[in-house]
Amino acid sequence: MDFSLSDEERAVRDTARQFITREVMPLEQEALRRERAHQPGLDRSELRELQLKAKKFGFWGLSTPEEYGGMDLPAVLQSLIWTEIGRTFVQFKFGGDADNILYFANEEQKREFLIPTIEGDRISCFAITEPGAGSDAANIKLSARQDGGDWVLNGEKTFITNGNDADFVIVVAVTDKEKGVRGGGTTAFLVDREMGWRSEFIQTMGEGGPASLIFSDVRVPARNILGEIGQGFELGMKWIGKGRYLIPSQALGIAERALGMAVEYANTRETFGRKIGENQAIQWMIADSEVELEAARWLILRAAWTVDQGSDPRHASSMAKLHGAAMVNNVVDRVLQIHGGMGYTRELPLERWYRQVRLMRIYEGTDEMQRLIISRDLLRGYTKIGGHLA
Ligand SMILES: Cc1cc2nc3c(=O)[nH]c(=O)nc-3n(C[C@H](O)[C@H](O)[C@H](O)COP(=O)(O)OP(=O)(O)OC[C@H]3O[C@@H](n4cnc5c(N)ncnc54)[C@H](O)[C@@H]3O)c2cc1C
Repeated sequence: MDFSLSDEERAVRDTARQFITREVMPLEQEALRRERAHQPGLDRSELRELQLKAKKFGFWGLSTPEEYGGMDLPAVLQSLIWTEIGRTFVQFKFGGDADNILYFANEEQKREFLIPTIEGDRISCFAITEPGAGSDAANIKLSARQDGGDWVLNGEKTFITNGNDADFVIVVAVTDKEKGVRGGGTTAFLVDREMGWRSEFIQTMGEGGPASLIFSDVRVPARNILGEIGQGFELGMKWIGKGRYLIPSQALGIAERALGMAVEYANTRETFGRKIGENQAIQWMIADSEVELEAARWLILRAAWTVDQGSDPRHASSMAKLHGAAMVNNVVDRVLQIHGGMGYTRELPLERWYRQVRLMRIYEGTDEMQRLIISRDLLRGYTKIGGHLA
């Protein structure tokens, strides 16, 4: 058994780390200042400038096929890079990527939606969640009714990331009530904002915020169907599946950085005439954080590795998402505690992470949904205890 990274993996990870450290981290204090003033930490043009700079280092389209100018990296490498991105709280990501399901587009749609998204000229969002259907995504109601050569969409989506900024939405709608959502009764549509949907910002405890999307008789030409009629729910589940190992990968980077801050603070802050790190109460918080962090690392890398093997990654990804999200919440909470009153201030990023990482237990499948998947796989015998080593 070999737990070491290959030379290539180490080189790519180190270059990503260098870029984040040299180009992104210096923007952190300004990002904090802006966020305290309720502005975005990084605006769209600054993000693009950074992404184009990263392109010169070779980072462009981590998951984008080479024929579209991307790196088409294996999942393990993508996971390692997302961990590096997690080290900074500046809302940065490398450019050149598009939603995985946009590759189901036909040639004309690829020119209109996929390629401009990869290039960063257009912003997409993906919408399946509705006010009455989150975890129970099969309960969606937003309808698409055929009318001549068009489809007419009515209903509401909610909690849509980028919903306020997006130029177009990939929306999953019910096209055949009789067949039902799981029986091929849904279809995904590519809908430009100009076609008439509107967005309403939702205030959350995090920075930025998702949006509700309202569709009232929005007329969409049939040529804007993504994939096949009846394939909507399947595409939606594919979109969600990807985040299940990348979200915890980012969580790992956050936890590593935060734990590093705790170690430094414990070694310098003095109370009662000695360093706080000399107290067992602090030592145990550090020890527990390190153990949970390492356990998460191997669950995450195993999930990414499963993707690279071409095997079904759902069980491994659910374990990685469940434990990764819990781990980062525990670690950030402990690190904030170790910093005492300073941890609670907006001088440090800790309270910001505390708010940000809470989301990781909710979106792209709540903790409870991950537990449901993991236990169902075992109870129904879909997977063996111990996974690939069994
Ligand atoms: C900031 C943010 C961004 C998001 N971005 C997007 C996006 O871009 N696109 C998109 O489509 N959606 C997005 N979502 C939606 C997100 O995926 C849902 O919020 C999530 O799936 C949970 O659904 P819900 O909020 O309706 O909670 P509910 O499904 O109503 O669940 C409420 C609680 O009940 C629990 N629960 C539900 N059913 C069961 C059960 N059977 N057993 C045990 N417990 C259960 C849940 O785990 C949860 O704790 C986003 C959400 C947020 C907050």
